[in-house]
Amino acid sequence: MGLVLAVDGPGGAGKGTVCHIASKILGYPYLDTGLLYRAVALKLVAKNVTKLESHAIEFAGTLKLEDLNKVGLRDPEVSNLSSKIAIIPGVRERLLSFQIEFSRDPRGAILDGRDIGARVCPNADIKFYITASLEVRAKRRWIETIKLNPSETLSKVKADLMKRDIRDRSRSLAPLIKAEDALLIDTSELTIDASVKLFIDAVNEKLNN
Ligand code: C5P
Repeated sequence: MGLVLAVDGPGGAGKGTVCHIASKILGYPYLDTGLLYRAVALKLVAKNVTKLESHAIEFAGTLKLEDLNKVGLRDPEVSNLSSKIAIIPGVRERLLSFQIEFSRDPRGAILDGRDIGARVCPNADIKFYITASLEVRAKRRWIETIKLNPSETLSKVKADLMKRDIRDRSRSLAPLIKAEDALLIDTSELTIDASVKLFIDAVNEKLNN
């Protein structure tokens, strides 16, 4: 039986990159839970719905794995909308069972998001909180974004990220917080390799104890 690894942190902190590499090294399946919220938001945008809340709840209840691979999931409009629909209790409730099911994989599991250590996997074997300064996170997101949209400015990406940070941290339902027992990894000054090493070292330490 593999370990359950719960990873939280703000957008652009490097969670996805670290978890993706760690999942390859450890052989544990990895779920980027932000994609669930993004997939709901993308459907809302694509169907141009007016009744946001009821449709978001409906879409969250009928999400399929293939919805997590759709083009457009990282569009700025979808990013903003995903953090807006993430405050709807019915949406979170419907997405919760999908995540809990994923975390029960006998091979182990890595899940990253905002409420993984606190709500989805409160009994995770290891909890990580991966973060970085707003400046560094905005720069990373901007470099990704201009590959698809060369006219996007760094200041716009930074402002969007900051708005999303505030929404994710200040909401009453499942806000982004560092769990007390979470291991902090600040990637602001770290290379990807160094960040992954801290992560894997913690897993090996747990496995050897
Ligand atoms: O991680 P990512 O930036 O892709 O997440 C998109 C949005 O989905 C976040 O801004 C957050 O509002 C929401 N989210 C959440 N809980 C999670 C994962 C993501 O509320 N576990």
